[in-house]
Amino acid sequence: MIQKFKKYIKKNTGILIRLDDIAENMNWNLMEKAELLFNKYNIKPVLGVIPNNQDKELLTFPKKNNFWEQIRIWNNKGWEISMHGSNHVYDADTNNKDYFSHGGKSEFFGHSFDVQLLKIKNGLKKFNDEKIKVRSFYAPNHTYDENTLIALKNSGIKEIIDGYGLMPYIEKDIKFIPQLFYKVIALPFGIQATQIHLNYWEQKDFDNFEKFIIENLKNIITYDQAIEKVNNNLFYKLINILTKKILQLKRIIKK
Ligand SMILES: [Zn+2]
Repeated sequence: MIQKFKKYIKKNTGILIRLDDIAENMNWNLMEKAELLFNKYNIKPVLGVIPNNQDKELLTFPKKNNFWEQIRIWNNKGWEISMHGSNHVYDADTNNKDYFSHGGKSEFFGHSFDVQLLKIKNGLKKFNDEKIKVRSFYAPNHTYDENTLIALKNSGIKEIIDGYGLMPYIEKDIKFIPQLFYKVIALPFGIQATQIHLNYWEQKDFDNFEKFIIENLKNIITYDQAIEKVNNNLFYKLINILTKKILQLKRIIKK
């Protein structure tokens, strides 16, 4: 019985390494170190690539001229390329009315369906022109509205690396791989994506990340392994609802 339980927990525990804000202009020094680390431990992360970056903060970082060639090389190594927004410019305020009640500013929330569809199409066109296949998306600052989801589906994207929960789930005909914490945390149960912002890291953050990788190596999974875990059985549904409630409460208390 205990063996069976342990096996069940092991089967349903995993960390998907998701790196955010991968763009032509970024902290290439740490990105090169991250690549060496992933190679050393045979990790296949998800890169959240901004296809048409216009984010002023990111533009202050050094530019890589052969950026798209580099993305193709990583993609060919089995790293998953995800579309992270279109231009990464926050020009709307959610007032906490966004899909996940995350709050804060947004590139997508509140824009008309047509504007959102155009943003998504422009982003996908860039990947297409660069011959990179993309099947998933996640919005800058976790902020979506109903139109974002419909525009994504209309563009053929039905997988989002975001959301509350301990297990990947389906909602509105979209598969969600949850992303809960700002820091890299290993949970004793559940499938989680990290949210790593190399651009704002210092060497000591990177050193901590390396330690985390070594300690949790056996639980680090690929994008395919995460998406295979999508399940809407009652048990998962219940723990996902519970996680959502707890985290939303925590955010309210913090405010
Ligand atoms: Zn971002």
